[in-house]
Amino acid sequence: MPGGNTRHSIALTPYPVYVRGGRGCRVIDVDGEERIDFINNFTSNILGHADPDVTEAVRRQIESGTAFSMPTGHEIDLASLLVERVEYIEKIRFCNSGTEAVMFALRAARAYTGKRKIAKFEGCYHGAYDYAQTSEAPTADVWGSGTEPRCVIEAGCVDSIRDDVLVLPWNNPDACEALIGRHHGDLAAVIFDPLPMRIGFIPPRADFLRRLRDVTQAGGVLLVCDEVLTFRLGFHGALHESGIRPDLTTFGKIIGGGFPVGAVGGADRFMEVFDHTKGPRIHHAGTFNANPITMCAGLAQMRKMTEQQYSRLERMGEALRSRLSRMLAQRGSPAQVLGKGSLFAVHLTDREIVDYRSVVESSPGKAFFLRLCHEMLGRGIAMSKDRLGGCLSTPMEQSELDSFVAALDESLATVQHSA
Ligand code: PMP
Repeated sequence: MPGGNTRHSIALTPYPVYVRGGRGCRVIDVDGEERIDFINNFTSNILGHADPDVTEAVRRQIESGTAFSMPTGHEIDLASLLVERVEYIEKIRFCNSGTEAVMFALRAARAYTGKRKIAKFEGCYHGAYDYAQTSEAPTADVWGSGTEPRCVIEAGCVDSIRDDVLVLPWNNPDACEALIGRHHGDLAAVIFDPLPMRIGFIPPRADFLRRLRDVTQAGGVLLVCDEVLTFRLGFHGALHESGIRPDLTTFGKIIGGGFPVGAVGGADRFMEVFDHTKGPRIHHAGTFNANPITMCAGLAQMRKMTEQQYSRLERMGEALRSRLSRMLAQRGSPAQVLGKGSLFAVHLTDREIVDYRSVVESSPGKAFFLRLCHEMLGRGIAMSKDRLGGCLSTPMEQSELDSFVAALDESLATVQHSA
């Protein structure tokens, strides 16, 4: 494997911790060391590892086959659960990753509107689809103006993508209105993540999403909410309480119960572009779409994620965020704790954090986070190598939160002392 790995997000210098297994909120490495997992396969394992009900559902299905060239009832069950929970989706289709979900949502928007461009926010991640991956991590020498960010493309993507992607600055409604207003004649969709992980869960400002909704609606542009990660924030989805209703929504991660998954959903009229009974439509196949293992696992996980479980995670998240804030204040170093529900991130600065650029300009950099990750690993905590933050899982208790705060306090002392 080039670079010794097959997934950049988990490559670790000098080498990653190889895992033997996991149970509940802990992972055990090949040397038998146990760590509390604050990554949870990048948020997908909301019930932790090897949940007995998910395992049992999968075991039962595996014994009677893993994938068929005929549908099973399980896909109807999972589709029904999701459509019932999220009021802004009436129809849904499954695929195998968040990347694919985003790709098909953007394709659906193009098919519905007859327009070709898409817009995304600078520094935000939506998977590996060429268009969605533009300006994912641009540097100051190439990012251009703050109100009209340049579209920076990934290695291996064709240059012409630049003409079809509009890059928007997060939390700047005036700039977004101006850009969307100027391009709406060609613009099929604006995709956004309601609490973008890559920029450390910077929340949208008070009226930002409302203005985004209004300007897209006025311009005949579909608003695509990427809930691949944020669907773990609430029983009814991340946007339920905001009152904002997107046209299309993408899902992934938790809805697969620990197996590869993606889905795109929305109102009937948008989803009709996938309906083969209505004439020539978007061709959407996929050997493993809605395979019964993923569907059974996803259904078992989502059924266990009751409103009470979301509330409990919300309370634990609040408790962790306030304990982190207290600990960091006592340390006397500048810090801001962001996040919501079971998600948290720490920004080690007192500068106002509003968008991608303010994060880049105030971040201690890759080497710092790598050192911190190693220090945390040494203290029994699995945490991202790229940022200070993570997510909770339902098997966690107060004692795991205590362990995290104590390990971070000591790790920061070590890393900052040697800086
Ligand atoms: N969208 C968002 C918001 C994500 O966080 C991710 C994955 N981290 C994706 C899309 C891509 O999902 P996948 O890794 O399943 O392709």
